[in-house]
Amino acid sequence: MTLDRTSTPSSDAVSAPTTPALAPLPSALADRLAECPGLPSLPAAAAEVIRLAQGDEPRLADFAHAIERDPALTLRLLSLANSALYARGDARVATCSEAVSRLGLDATLAAAMSFGLPRPGPRENLDLERLWQRAIIAALSAQHLARRLCPQAAGTLFTAALIQDIGILALDALDGDSYRSLAHDLGDHDGLCMAEQRYYGCDHALVGAWLAASWQLPDHLAAAIAESHGPLTDDAPQALCLRLSCRIADCWLAEDPAAAFSSLLRQLLELDSVDANRLEALLQELHGLLPPVARLFEITCPPDIDHHALVQEAKQLLFAQNLRLSQRLASQQRELEILQASHSDLDEQRRTDHLTGLANRPWLEALLELHFDKARTARQPLSVMFIDLDRFKRLNDRHGHRFGDRVLIHFASALKAMVRESDVAGRYGGEEFLVLMPQTRRCQAGALAGRIREALLAAPLAHAEGEPVHVTASIGIASLEDAAFTCHSELIDAADQAMYGVKHGGRDGVRHFVEPEY
Ligand code: GH3
Ligand code: MG
Ligand code: MG
Repeated sequence: MTLDRTSTPSSDAVSAPTTPALAPLPSALADRLAECPGLPSLPAAAAEVIRLAQGDEPRLADFAHAIERDPALTLRLLSLANSALYARGDARVATCSEAVSRLGLDATLAAAMSFGLPRPGPRENLDLERLWQRAIIAALSAQHLARRLCPQAAGTLFTAALIQDIGILALDALDGDSYRSLAHDLGDHDGLCMAEQRYYGCDHALVGAWLAASWQLPDHLAAAIAESHGPLTDDAPQALCLRLSCRIADCWLAEDPAAAFSSLLRQLLELDSVDANRLEALLQELHGLLPPVARLFEITCPPDIDHHALVQEAKQLLFAQNLRLSQRLASQQRELEILQASHSDLDEQRRTDHLTGLANRPWLEALLELHFDKARTARQPLSVMFIDLDRFKRLNDRHGHRFGDRVLIHFASALKAMVRESDVAGRYGGEEFLVLMPQTRRCQAGALAGRIREALLAAPLAHAEGEPVHVTASIGIASLEDAAFTCHSELIDAADQAMYGVKHGGRDGVRHFVEPEY
């Protein structure tokens, strides 16, 4: 086949690419590509098809005429038009114009280009066979997907998918062996792209787009090639079709296609536009079309796969993966709950007095602050009771510190039993206790204090050498209604002050705070 060397990229093509939206190539690479003599060039017939397409009023007959000059290409176009891919039960075509009319411009262009691009040869080091297999699977997949997602772009996408990896051919022509050592495993496309990024500062998608632009291919083709490696998540359906098509091709050619398809299925689950059933229909279509199309494009047919069994296996694998994932999630959830529980245990420890188990002083103050603000805002009553056990030092001296501890513990539990659910009883320090009483007026608080004193009188808190040990308490009460308190600590001070009044009066009694008269 005659190759049109005049379309080899020139330095002009580097500085003025025809697709304005195309990102520029790293300049060192652009310079080297511009100088490289062996880049794949556009077959003459394809160049002519493009030239005609860019004219004002392209006519079918002109396309046919351009192609007829290449008998081998004509033969293949006829075969392609009569293949299962395009015939769809219609009558056989016999002329080049009929073939072009059935194929449409994009497919004609794709055929013209692909038949003239480098083919696998006996001494090739780069696995061109695999590259072309991938290209054909991707092209058919892109076309199939496009028929459902964006029918008007089906032809363009076939072409774009078919030539999306021409950048690999360009880099191979540029760097030969050193590029082949990068591209030793064409099955790992993502790995290849990363290696190219490191080595050249861009991957073969951009190089391919540049080459397409320098061949004067339509702008949208060059742009599609440049974008072909993007994520599956967003974007227009056209970009999705193309990006998905090469992933499908990679799965088809993977060593373990079921595992590869199951991980693709997982990604598809996150997309609304393509589901597992569609994937199965697509694989079925590929299964039927690949052998004749591979023959047409003169490539070894990609390995056959049992699409039905494969999708089932992929679904099962996905199910097993999801199960493992949800088990892991469940065990993480359990760990989290344990952590939260131990955290709330810690919290509990931080808030309680370790001897009596009642609220400790910081927690009492924090709670009172909350209740104080709430009661003031809502104009609700609030009372605080300060309880100081009488002559506790003497009790310790007589019976020992441990005995004193037991008395404190018993008093605490008795106190807790006497207060209401909404009250908070706590140990303020030593033998001093505090009771916070939201929604409680001074008279109600006074009644509780009376009951506490009665209980202490009625039942001893401990026995020493068989004898009951009674403890008395001095109790001071401060209520919001007693004065114009401005903060919670003033309320505590007031209750403390009232308690001291009891002490001075001889102990074992209850007093309410009275605002001093000046
Ligand atoms: P008053 O009637 O004036 O309150 O006399 P008091 O002895 O109770 O008061 P004071 O403040 O003089 O002494 C408090 C005593 O409480 C001294 C201390 O040994 C005892 N105490 C404080 N904390 C604890 C504790 O955790 N365990 C025991 N067993 N005793 C404590
Ligand atoms: Mg005291
Ligand atoms: Mg005391």
